[in-house]
Formats: sequence, C-alpha cells, structure tokens
Amino acid sequence: MAPSNAELNQQAVRNIVRGLATNDLRPLVEALDEDVVWISHSPPAFFRFGGEHRGRIGAMELLAKIYADFSFIRYETDGLVQSGDEIWAINNIVVHHRPSDRTASLRLSFRMTFRDGKLMRYEGFFDSASALAQMGRLPIPGPRPALPPPPHKGGCLCGAVRWQLNARPLGINACHCDDCRKLTGAANLLMLLAHSADFTHEGKTERYRKRADSGREIDIVRCANCGVRLWHEPLSSPEYVFVAAGTLDDPGWAIPTSHIWIEKAAPGTQFAPDALLVEGQPASRQVLFDAFSRVYPG
Ligand SMILES: [Zn+2]
Ligand SMILES: [Zn+2]
Repeated sequence: MAPSNAELNQQAVRNIVRGLATNDLRPLVEALDEDVVWISHSPPAFFRFGGEHRGRIGAMELLAKIYADFSFIRYETDGLVQSGDEIWAINNIVVHHRPSDRTASLRLSFRMTFRDGKLMRYEGFFDSASALAQMGRLPIPGPRPALPPPPHKGGCLCGAVRWQLNARPLGINACHCDDCRKLTGAANLLMLLAHSADFTHEGKTERYRKRADSGREIDIVRCANCGVRLWHEPLSSPEYVFVAAGTLDDPGWAIPTSHIWIEKAAPGTQFAPDALLVEGQPASRQVLFDAFSRVYPG
C-alpha cells in the first residue's frame, strides 16, 4: 500500500530535522515548494533573520545567511503533532554563533504546512527570553533557589567519610566529557569548585590517580569502605578541590552555572538558561568561576 499523504509529510519532517541536526540542509531544500512562505517569530536582538521570506529562493537565501553565522551542535525534536497537512514540532537546540563565539541553548517550536509532500509554509517560534538572556547576557531571574549559606556538608553512602565546605563554592560545573561519564557511571560529572583551604573532611579515604590526555594528573578520592567518589584534587593546582555535588546532604541548590563538553551531553540534558555553555574545555578555570559569579554576584 502506498504511504498516505500524512505519512509522507511526517517522513519529510523527520528527514528535515535529522538533516538540521547534522547541519545538512539537503532534505529541507528538497522539500521547499517554489512558493513557500517562511516566517520566523524571533527577537531581532538574538536572531536578525526574523520576519517573512517568500519563495524557494528567498528561503534558501535566508538559510545561507543563517548557516554562515550559526552552526547547530544539537537539534532534537521533543515531539511531533500532526493535524492534516500541518505538523507542529518542539525542538531543543544548542547553537553556536561563530562571530561572537557564544553558545546558546533554546527551544524552538515550528509549524510546517505541507501539500503533496512539499513544504508550503514554515513558521518558527523562538523561546525568546531564554535565548536573549544567553546571547545578550541579560540577567533574568531564573528558577534557581538561593545559594544557602556555608558550611555545606556532605559524605559518602556508608557514612564513614564526612566532608565540609566552609565557604561558598567558586563554581558549579557539569562536565559531559567521556572520561567523566565513565568515572561517574552517570550522564555527567557535577562538581562544586572550591578552594582547598575552605575544605575539611574526616574518615578513611583512598585515592586513584588519573592522568588526562593533557598530561595533567588528578587524585580521585573515595571512601575506603563504600567506594563512593567524593572529591578530586588536581595535582597541578593544589589550591583547588572539586567536590562531587551528588554527595551533598542537600543537593537541591547545586544547579550547574556552567557546562563543559556540551557537544557530548546525553540526549535530553537540560541547561539552565543562565548557565555558561562551553564546547570542549575552557582555556582556564577562571571562565567557570566568572560564570558562577555572574549568576550569584558577591
Ligand atoms: Zn563510605
Ligand atoms: Zn570531564
């Protein structure tokens, strides 16, 4: 049995989104009708390509301009809803803006209207406030709880090791790299960055020395009894300690202010709209400290 028109349209959208996720525009360009109307509802301060563009050539010129400035690190569709020739989609996007070297995570819903498998009309609706906050660095109050006053306390599963951080952290960073994923056995490694002078512990620990590709060495400290990974001590920077946020007694406030290696983040990862997003690793830790200070000034 030949596929129905509705099935053809659905398949076209899936191909288009799969293409966008790998910066491959061919499925989209092939689907454009000669008389397509392309409308982006977006804040001009973030996305200067908003407004209405007509015809296949107009849409292709627009796309060429967009892709000259932006590359898509992630383009995931949360869900497709179809009604006749109309398909709605909600997408989670992480985009890199090359001229400013900024990265933003945003939601974009679109409505595509098809006729005989050809795209007749596109309307995109940006998650404007969040995108603006990230691209323009505008401070917006997020859903973040306030930072509780120190000391911050935590420990391992069996209770043999207890630790205490006597100052506010310097950063709350999630690393999505392959090593951290293996190390935690979870999606990412969430760490409180802190001064080692502010950090104390009691109880018997053991260490595993890990050497990074960069040659830098780090001691990973675990409970000697239950094996829970508690903190890291970077050998090249003994003034710092990186505490595993999951071992906090109350981890409710430990929402990352920065994410690194975001191109490796597990599907479905949520990024707070005010968090710094970095592809790969930042040039220095100061970048992560600055991101924290922006979210939690003084
Ligand atoms: Zn333990
Ligand atoms: Zn890592």
